[in-house]
Amino acid sequence: MLKTSTYEDLTIYKMGRSIGKFVPYFVHCFLLEDTLIDTGTGFAGSEFLSALQGKKVNRIVNTHYHEDHTGNNYMLQQKHAARIFAHRDSIPNIENPRNVKLKLYQKWIWGYPEGSATEAIGDHLYIGSHPFRVIPCDGHSAGHICLYEPHKKWLFTGDMFCGIRNIYLRRDEDFNQILLSLEDLSKLKIDTIFCSLKGVVTGGGNALSEKIKYMKNLKKEILSLHRQGMPADKVRNKLLGKEDMMFYVTGGHFSKQYLINNVLASPYSKSTVE
Ligand SMILES: [Zn+2]
Repeated sequence: MLKTSTYEDLTIYKMGRSIGKFVPYFVHCFLLEDTLIDTGTGFAGSEFLSALQGKKVNRIVNTHYHEDHTGNNYMLQQKHAARIFAHRDSIPNIENPRNVKLKLYQKWIWGYPEGSATEAIGDHLYIGSHPFRVIPCDGHSAGHICLYEPHKKWLFTGDMFCGIRNIYLRRDEDFNQILLSLEDLSKLKIDTIFCSLKGVVTGGGNALSEKIKYMKNLKKEILSLHRQGMPADKVRNKLLGKEDMMFYVTGGHFSKQYLINNVLASPYSKSTVE
């Protein structure tokens, strides 16, 4: 399934695997001038190619190597002769996607991308007349970048934002590191966030502040309850509830308990809780 929309001079592609009429998960890609930011899932590849008819994708920027961001790299490299750029730490996994062993749910929803030749991105790039800063952001995956356009106050966040109140953490994520990265991003003047999960988020600066507030408050509550002697599983039940479908569908890859445990394992990062 693929839906196309526009925002100012961007074209936005929202796509996901259709299973009958059901689409378990969506991801967004953004086309600005001749440059596509992320390429979605290969399961929507033919629809994506049709939607791009009449447009020329000369360049692809991958925010990171995850399979839902690189799924159509190879096809677009073949059909549009697009050059692909990413953070150098993401390149080995974009060129050889099977370096990363996908969980069953990931294979089902996204599938393995085909490998694509990728070049290291610099600190800055121009997309048409738009200057962009390339900002490495740790916490979600190795080699993740955000892209910031200071004139429009646009921030392309890949998977660093993903909504305000997240109650799960992926097994390879680091709560404190995500918080630190978001605090750094919040120093930018931001009008609009372009999020792989949520799409266009107007009032992006406020949304980012809200997310940081939520994460700091959650961390504070986790540490406070644990200091009072509450075991980690009880802290989870009190603050986030029991594990639910997300845990079972993803084979435990997204977990509330892991979020609690991750905060308790490294509570005293630079992002201090007052
Ligand atoms: Zn990701």
